Amino acid sequence: MAETIFSKIIRKEIPAEIVFENETVLAFKDIKPQAPVHVLIIPKDVIPSTREIIGSNHSKLLGDLFDATNKIANDLGISKDGFRLVINCGDNGGQEVYHLHMHLLGGRKLNWPPG
Ligand code: 5GP
Repeated sequence: MAETIFSKIIRKEIPAEIVFENETVLAFKDIKPQAPVHVLIIPKDVIPSTREIIGSNHSKLLGDLFDATNKIANDLGISKDGFRLVINCGDNGGQEVYHLHMHLLGGRKLNWPPG
């Protein structure tokens, strides 16, 4: 599967403001933040999009991603007031980087519906 810039961030070949890391998950601040808190939470495995998340093959990874999300939201102080998790998928979903990632957005009231 094709690597993206996120693989370079995982290997620490390019810098990023990392806020969480364990064996399976990395999280770092988005380079163009859309809210006071904007973190990208990614699997270390190269998975292009949520379309490749298949049944039980990925159930542990999904748990790892959500465990990380809750820890980061707590650590960054946005858990109590709430936050938004976004996964863009494919062209119509507005995905730009084809390495699965969740956007964790918080620190302000977010509008709904999205554009
Ligand atoms: P997508 O549109 O694919 O859901 O979101 C990709 C996100 O990755 C964008 O919000 C963009 O700002 C962020 N991004 C792209 N390249 C880099 C980078 O090199 N470093 C960091 N920290 N974020 C990046």
